[in-house]
Order: sequence, then C-alpha cells, then structure tokens
Amino acid sequence: MAHPNILSNRNLYEPLLPSLLRFGLSFWAWGGLFIAVYVLLERVSFLYQLDGLGITLWSPSAGASVILLVLLGVRFAPFVFVASLLTDFLIYTGPRGFFAPIGTSLVIAVGFAGLALALDKAWRSVREVGLARVVALLTIVPAGILVLATAYCLVLYLSGILFGHRFLVAVGNFWVGDTLGIITLVPAAVTVLRAQDSRRALSRARLLDAVVFAALLVGALWFIFGLRGAHEYQFFYLLFIPVVWIAVKAGYPGVSLALPVAHALIVTIGTTLGFGVYDFMAFQLLMLVLSATGLLLGAAVTESRHSAERMRMQEGELARATRQALVGATGTALAHEISQPLASTTNYLHAASRLLRASGRLPTEAAEALAKAEVEARRAREALERVRDYVSRGRLELTSVDLEAVTVKIVALLDGDARARGVRIDTSASPRLPPVLGDAIQLEQLLLNLAGNAIDAASTDDGRRGRVSVRLISQWKDRVVIEVEDDGPGVASCVADRLFEPFETTKHNGMGLGLTLARQIVEAHEGALRWQNLAPHGARFSVELRLGGPR
Ligand code: ADP
Repeated sequence: MAHPNILSNRNLYEPLLPSLLRFGLSFWAWGGLFIAVYVLLERVSFLYQLDGLGITLWSPSAGASVILLVLLGVRFAPFVFVASLLTDFLIYTGPRGFFAPIGTSLVIAVGFAGLALALDKAWRSVREVGLARVVALLTIVPAGILVLATAYCLVLYLSGILFGHRFLVAVGNFWVGDTLGIITLVPAAVTVLRAQDSRRALSRARLLDAVVFAALLVGALWFIFGLRGAHEYQFFYLLFIPVVWIAVKAGYPGVSLALPVAHALIVTIGTTLGFGVYDFMAFQLLMLVLSATGLLLGAAVTESRHSAERMRMQEGELARATRQALVGATGTALAHEISQPLASTTNYLHAASRLLRASGRLPTEAAEALAKAEVEARRAREALERVRDYVSRGRLELTSVDLEAVTVKIVALLDGDARARGVRIDTSASPRLPPVLGDAIQLEQLLLNLAGNAIDAASTDDGRRGRVSVRLISQWKDRVVIEVEDDGPGVASCVADRLFEPFETTKHNGMGLGLTLARQIVEAHEGALRWQNLAPHGARFSVELRLGGPR
C-alpha cells in the first residue's frame, strides 16, 4: 500500500477557495446567472428603502457580488455593473435620473472588485480557516464598505438626489446593509463550496447539533418576538445562546452556515410583524455583533481543534520515526554481529572442502553440497551487508537487474519448504521483460520477503493445497510490476492499517520486519508497494519499479 507521509497528506496551506469553474459553466453563463440572482436578491431584500434612494438595511446582493468576484475573479466585475444598473431601473422607485445609476453602478462594481482583491490577498497569506481569516474579513469588509458607501452617496449627492442633511444617514444605512450582507453570506458560501468543510459541517453528528441549534433559535425568537409590546431588541441577546452553542459545537463551518439561517428568519419575522425602520436598524446592528462574535468564536474553536489534531499527527510521526530508528539500530547491530560469524563460516566451509578434496575423501554429492553451502553463506553475508549499508547510509548498489533470474533464484530457494507445506509456486513473466536498474541483492530480499509471506499465508493445516504465483509484468514502456499473489486468508484486519510498521505481526514466530524492510527497499528504489485482499480469499502484493531506477 502506498504510504504517504501523514503530515504532507494534510493540506496545511489549503487553497483559498475551490474554483467554481469546475462546474463547467462558461464565463457568460456564470455572468448571466449572477445577474439573475442579484436582481432576485435585491427584489427580496428591498425593505426599508431610504428616501427612494435604493439604499436598504439588508443587502444580500452585496454578499453575492463579493462571492462572485472572490471565487471567479474580478474579471466578472462588468456583470456586477450590469446587475446594479438593471436593479436601478427595475426595482428602485425614487427619481434617479440618468447619470446617478451609471455612477453608482460604477462605484459598486469597482468597489466590490477592490474589496474582493483585498480579501483574496489577505486570505492567501493566512493558513487555513482560522482566526486570522475571520479577523481579515471583519476588518476589511466594514472599512471597505465605509469607503464604498461614502462614494456611492457622494454620487447621489452630486446628482442632486441625496440631500446634504441625509448624507450621513444614507452612508450609515448603506454600511449596515452591505456589511451584514457580506459577512453573513461569504463565509457560508465558502463553507458550502469547500466540500470537505461542508461535509464535516453536515455530518450525521452535526445533524443533532443543527437540530439543537434550530430548537434554541426558535425558542429565543419565540421569546423575543412573542413578548409583544416590549422593545423586541432588548431581548436580542438571547440569540447569543444558539449562536455560541453552534460555534462551540460545530466550529467555524457550522456557525458560518447557521448565521445566514438565523438572519433570514429574523428578517422574515421582523418584516412580517411590521417592524419600524428604527427597530429593524437596531436588529441589523445587533445581528452584526452576533455574526462577528459567532464567526470569531467558531474560528477560534476550529483553529484549536486543528492544532490539537496536528499535534496528534506529529506525535504519531515521531513515534514512527523512533520505531524506524530503533529498527535501524537493531538491524545495524545484528548485521554486525552476524556478518562476522558468517564470514568465518564461509572460510571454514572453503577450508573443509579443500582439505577433504586434498585427502581424496570427498564424494561428488558432498562436494556439491559444501559448495552450495558456501555460496549461500556468502549470499547471506552480502544481503546483511547490503541491508546494513542501506540502514546506515541509505546506499544502493545499482546494476542492471534481470528480474526473471532473481525470481528463478528466489523460487528455487523457497520451493523445497513450500512443497513440504503443500504450497505450489507458479511464476510467469511478460515476454522480453526488460531489465531494471536497481540493487540486485535488495530486490532479492524484497521478493524473498513477499514470497515468504505468501507461502506462510497459503500453507494451511487442513491439508488443502495452497498456491502462490509470482508474476512479472511489463507496464507503460518504462515500468515493471512484480505481483506476488496467494490464496491464503488475506491480510487480517487487525494489522491492515499498520502492515508496514515495524514489529507488526500476527505470526507467533514472526518479527514483523519483513514488510517494513520491503517498503524501505521499494521507497529507496522510488517505486510503489501496494496490496489488496482478493475475493473470495487471498492477498496480492505488487511492487512497481521504474526501469531507469531511482532518479
Ligand atoms: P512477519 O512475516 O514477521 O509477521 P511481515 O512484516 O512480513 O512480518 O508481515 C507482517 C504481517 O502482515 C504478518 O504477520 C501477516 O499478518 C501480514 N501479512 C503479510 N503478508 C501477508 C499475506 N500474503 N497474506 C496475509 N497476511 C499477510
């Protein structure tokens, strides 16, 4: 199984936002869709318009514009201009003249594009969804909208539509509506579009949180709006309970989705009950504070969860590295201890066969056996030295390796034992299999480990005949795959997750080092080691190697 480094597996520098373009709509289709949504939102939110100026206390279309420009890029700004111009003619009721709509639409398009660029730049520089991102949102948006609102009202003032004494009120209303529209909708859109976050936010465990949140929200709203006669916003603080609860339980993704829901409910109830403009303004301001609190708290919770998770992963990595180092040290020590006696054994064997031959008392079979024993002892020593070299220095001795020859050698070595245990070994190879550049002894070791495991798995006590097959497959012109397959019970689930970790074994006499070493050898060759259990039973381990060897 491929073993990605766990740390690099998690994307700590997540791309700001996924591109909506993967949905495959063209530039013009996105633009058209946006204009339709913008006009619709303006229509729905056309409440408490100030002096027929088109300035309202709630402006979700501002959120939609920023979402479009951040996600798809500021090249969509002309669509914002067109959408704003259209609403001016279709929805706004006051006397607007000809230049004011063009001027204000220009301010809107350029202003939102600037805001989107500023947000994008700030968000790109921060890691993950965390406090820094929310703080950027909560500072850039209010400041940017203040500038935008001032410019917008200036155009209206210069066109003679807005009177001087209403200037500040107009700027204030614009600021509240647009700031709220953006800070409630942008985080929600980002959460929905980042599949990972929304899946986390909507998982089954979160469903219960959502139900509790909805219950608390409805309870708070009932209390706030049920007590007619009182100034409803006096009880608005009750809404902090569901928002804080969801922020703590579901973190930033949860709260970012919950806020627009709560806001939409409040606006609906408020307008249905016929709130006056001042009450509505008070609600919107309180909603602003509630949103900021919820987002900051949610981000802090998510950030601390992420860092705890990262810490756990780092601890896991450290433990793995420690075990690896332990194996390395044990391997080096063992190799050192064993290679000396092996060298002496080779020498004694050599001396014994020479002496016996000289005395004329050596039958041919015995001479052959002695020669084989000498060859094997030398091979074992070389294997040990290679492993020690690799463990201590990671050095590979690269030569052109004929994998078919390696397979024949390893199968000859294992065949006797396999037959004794009722296991038949088959081999096959693609015609004209090219040689690979690799370390011959390490590759022998690799095949020995995989085939040895396969024989262990295929041999049973019930007298059934087992089967192991070793296949060499030429692939993609520049790769070969070695497949070792058996018809045993398959890899047990208790070791499946940690198969390549040192000392993981299910055998009473196993060391749990064979696959660890196999993985090290494959990694050193920059190949890939994968495994799968087969139906109805059995396992297949496959090693993919580049013909050209490690780069
Ligand atoms: P060891 O053979 O000493 O146990 P390994 O690292 O080679 O050490 O293998 C670790 C474990 O992986 C084995 O104990 C066994 O449970 C499992 N395993 C390896 N190869 C196979 C296989 N072909 N079929 C089933 N299980 C396997």
